Amino acid sequence: MIRILKAYPFRIIIFLVFLAVAVAYLVFLQNTKKSLLYSNYNKEVISLQKRLENNINTKEKSTLALALTLAVSDQKLVNHILKNHIPHIYYKTLILEYKKNTLYKNIWIQVLDKNGKSLYRSWSKKTGDNVSSIRKEVASMLKSKKITTTISVGIYDLTIKAMVPIVFNKKFVGIVEVISHFNSIAKEFLKMDVDSVIVANKEYKKQLNYPFSKKVIGDYYVANLDAKNEKMDYLAKHGIENYINNSFKIENGYLIVSYLLKRNENPVGVYIMFKRLDKIASNYIDNFMLRLILLGIVAFIVVLGIINTIIYFILKRQKRYYKDIIDTSSNIITINNKEEILDANKTFFKYFIEYKNIDEFKKEHNCICNFFVKEEGYITKDMGDYDWMDYILEYPTKINKVKINSSGEVFYFLISASLLSSQKKQYSVILSDITQEEKYKKKIEQISITDPLTGIFNRRYYDQKIKEEISSAKRYDFPLSLVMLDIDFFKKINDDYGHDTGDEVLKEYTNLISSLLRNGDKVCRIGGEEFAVILPHITVNEAAKVAEKLRTSIEKHKKILPITMSFGAVQYIKGESTDSIFKRADNALYEAKNSGRNKVVVRFV
Ligand code: GH3
Ligand code: MG
Ligand code: MG
Repeated sequence: MIRILKAYPFRIIIFLVFLAVAVAYLVFLQNTKKSLLYSNYNKEVISLQKRLENNINTKEKSTLALALTLAVSDQKLVNHILKNHIPHIYYKTLILEYKKNTLYKNIWIQVLDKNGKSLYRSWSKKTGDNVSSIRKEVASMLKSKKITTTISVGIYDLTIKAMVPIVFNKKFVGIVEVISHFNSIAKEFLKMDVDSVIVANKEYKKQLNYPFSKKVIGDYYVANLDAKNEKMDYLAKHGIENYINNSFKIENGYLIVSYLLKRNENPVGVYIMFKRLDKIASNYIDNFMLRLILLGIVAFIVVLGIINTIIYFILKRQKRYYKDIIDTSSNIITINNKEEILDANKTFFKYFIEYKNIDEFKKEHNCICNFFVKEEGYITKDMGDYDWMDYILEYPTKINKVKINSSGEVFYFLISASLLSSQKKQYSVILSDITQEEKYKKKIEQISITDPLTGIFNRRYYDQKIKEEISSAKRYDFPLSLVMLDIDFFKKINDDYGHDTGDEVLKEYTNLISSLLRNGDKVCRIGGEEFAVILPHITVNEAAKVAEKLRTSIEKHKKILPITMSFGAVQYIKGESTDSIFKRADNALYEAKNSGRNKVVVRFV
């Protein structure tokens, strides 16, 4: 998991998953909107059909109401029927009144005799023809003599008809028929932005000898006077049958709804309604979609938040994991930029015990290099032309060591540095403890240059030191002196007091000599009871004074046994060898011995 998180492809996978989810959600939104719209259209279809059905029912009922009124107890009408003649003006006033006072702008009245022959037509003077031969509902009513309301097609039009039997002295004498048109229904629909095209089935085309509207779509008679040409053309162009046989279609920005007009369950025509899709209320869908989109965005943000939190915790665990690895290292590991230390592992604080954490450390020090002890062979804060870290980076293959003094304790480390992040300019500096090895090495070195009896430097050290001092004196042109000294008649001490006393005398007087010399002056035991003192930066005259001081102090000391010593002093002559200066000093000492001992002899050549 830790590895995967770091990997670049993991981010791509997350991105792709989110992209896929976003696309899927968009598709889902689109489909949801589509199905919502479709069900909205379905509802509209049912609502339009229901409304039309109600309008037709209402119209049938009011037509029937009028027919009933006309049929009941109109003695005058009965007389006319019996005489087989009804004057053409008979219902004229009534129809005019009706037009004026009701919503019905067109009402037609027909009276038939008991055989179905037309005796009166309010809209035509043409009478005498037998209607029952054309209209089936008339034929069946002549048999049943029952009130009938229906939609039917005659020779004039497709209309809503109400027929009521006229009875005189309990005898059936004829039928009064009130006919109303679909125009008023079409007008009602127009108010709701619905265009109507009402057609009679094509089988009636021949029968409609006196078509009322004069409008047709191919073989189909159009019953409403105000049917728009544009809609009729559309139906003609796309095949009117397609609209008759389907309850609805969504086309050309319109919802086109059909409703079958029936007479006794037999279809006689179709009422076709056109409603523009944008006039169909769909606000609630938009609101619903908006909520869905908002919900999607909220869900997206929540999921993103959860993923972020998970990644945050995984990364935190991962960080802790690496920190644990770094902390368990026995090496000091620090993170730095060129200016300051940034972080350190736990081991760091085992050495810098005064500080509990890096912040405390940084309050007092910006760099671990503040603790580097300046000593030859060890990295210090400034390395000539280089800053300490630059030096380590520049010479990574060198064995770089530091000596650190922390809380009064001295530690030695191997030190290495490497670039962690070039972008952030961060470096790791690793320090491996070599204190024990270094101290042991120093001890061995010390032993190899120390005389075991007296604890002062030995001949080996002398040989090494005189070489170094000669090369410095040569390079920087400063004076360098050498004094050789030897105990007088030491053999006698051994002979008289024994070898052990001789040893004690040696220790006592070398201690005295060491205590009288400067720090930079090195006293070495180069033979049994013979010593050399290297005196850098000192002329032979000054060296003679030092020798004289030593001589008098030794003479006066008289501890264990009184002794005296003889001295030979020389100054380095530029260009001479180590052997040469040694020989000259030895000669001076020889001269001191030969000329009475317990004295200082200076030799200039
Ligand atoms: P001179 O004044 O001419 O220097 O006389 P000297 O007796 O000091 O000189 P010599 O060279 O004849 O004798 C040096 C003696 O120092 C010989 C040896 O027994 C003694 N000696 C050398 N090393 C040691 C040592 O480590 N311990 C003791 N006790 N004696 C030593
Ligand atoms: Mg001697
Ligand atoms: Mg000697």
